Amino acid sequence: MAFEGLAERLQAVMQRLRGKGKVTEADVKEAMREVRLALLEADVNFKVVKTFINRVKERAVGQEVLKSLTPGQQVIKVVNEELTELMGGEQSKLVKSNRPPTVIMMVGLQGAGKTTTSGKLARYLSKQNHHPLLVAADVYRPAAIRQLQVLGEQLDTPVFSLGEKEDPVKIAEQGVAYAKEHHHDYVIIDTAGRLHIDETMMEELKAIREKVQPDEVLLVVDAMTGQDAVNVAESFNKKLGLTGVVLTKLDGDTRGGAALSVKAVTNCPIKFVGMGEKTDALEPFFPDRMASRILGMGDVLTLIEKAQAAVDAEKARDLERKMRTQTFTLEDFLDQLQQVRKMGPLEDMLAMLPGAGQIKQLKNFKVDEKQIARVEAIIRSMTKEEKLHPEIINASRRKRIAKGSGTTVQDVNRLLKQFEDMKKMMKQFSSMAKMAKKKKRGF
Ligand code: GDP
Repeated sequence: MAFEGLAERLQAVMQRLRGKGKVTEADVKEAMREVRLALLEADVNFKVVKTFINRVKERAVGQEVLKSLTPGQQVIKVVNEELTELMGGEQSKLVKSNRPPTVIMMVGLQGAGKTTTSGKLARYLSKQNHHPLLVAADVYRPAAIRQLQVLGEQLDTPVFSLGEKEDPVKIAEQGVAYAKEHHHDYVIIDTAGRLHIDETMMEELKAIREKVQPDEVLLVVDAMTGQDAVNVAESFNKKLGLTGVVLTKLDGDTRGGAALSVKAVTNCPIKFVGMGEKTDALEPFFPDRMASRILGMGDVLTLIEKAQAAVDAEKARDLERKMRTQTFTLEDFLDQLQQVRKMGPLEDMLAMLPGAGQIKQLKNFKVDEKQIARVEAIIRSMTKEEKLHPEIINASRRKRIAKGSGTTVQDVNRLLKQFEDMKKMMKQFSSMAKMAKKKKRGF
């Protein structure tokens, strides 16, 4: 998981501040020294770190913070706000042209994930009832065109191609014309990258930009390359002019430096992040949510959105009621396991819960396919009464259930323990959701 080291260190510093009834200027300075080191270690650009620390210090040692009733919390609030600001403040949305089609030109070095991201973006737009057209203008990397065509087939999105012998400028131009003719409201042009920035590539990209006048020029960069990603972004921006950045491979164990420095160094907002190889692994980038995630304050909003996308509305309402009234049973648990699996890797989901890093029992909360089958068998071997009131399941009942389901008593124990853990997690989740709702309503 990205940011792991940074998140752990920042959370430890914040935890120490939170516990203090009184915070002195020296405490803040000490905390900022640690934050500074943590950021540098996470490969954040050193100039960015310096400015950031100065801003936080300036605000945090002010009287209204130190003299407040909860000085520790106030300092954390300042850090959270400044981190959000560092990553761009507000979410930067994809531009939409009032004269369709909206043309999006994808640029980037080879291997950054440009073709994959083009496909992901097509899927993202289709999900919002748009009709994107993919244009295969990467005539340089062998198999890039075929890769885009395969993605297009998978996503049921048309791909415009003239093969790899044609001039990419002509492909782009004709692609846009084709989109107009066939009423596509978005065009995503996958251009050619190189292993390194070179003049031929830049000239080609400039020529395409001149010809098709894109509404967006999105640079795709690999977050795993750290400060290199930031340097690449700076070069592209100077030479070509960018409207936004897509940071890929944020699912890997990148230290996070690129995500935190790109906007500050280039002034280009991060618009999306890639969270995996699959076509649904693209998320719009929200600076405030990312800051909360890094500080261990959770990202309940993204979690809720994922849940909404994966779970059918009827079931979600039912579940919400059960969570609220704490009438969640083992049968629901089974149903839920199956639904939750549709949302993505469970570990990633848990990482979005506030304070998840500190909840020890969640560390053991892993579900694999075989275990799901076992869980199902165990639950099916219980009586109705047992499913509704698992607390009555004593030693002899455990033995009977294990025998009936072809599992062991340990398996039954493990399941009951997991169920209890999940209930605890839900309690926390439901109170967070309530808080989020209140916040939305403004009180
Ligand atoms: P291009 O040369 O820039 O077009 O790169 P590709 O789209 O072919 O991607 C290069 C590799 O990166 C492929 O193996 C992709 O599956 C992988 N990739 C792209 N985006 C992501 C991401 O967000 N996460 C992970 N883990 N892999 C990614």
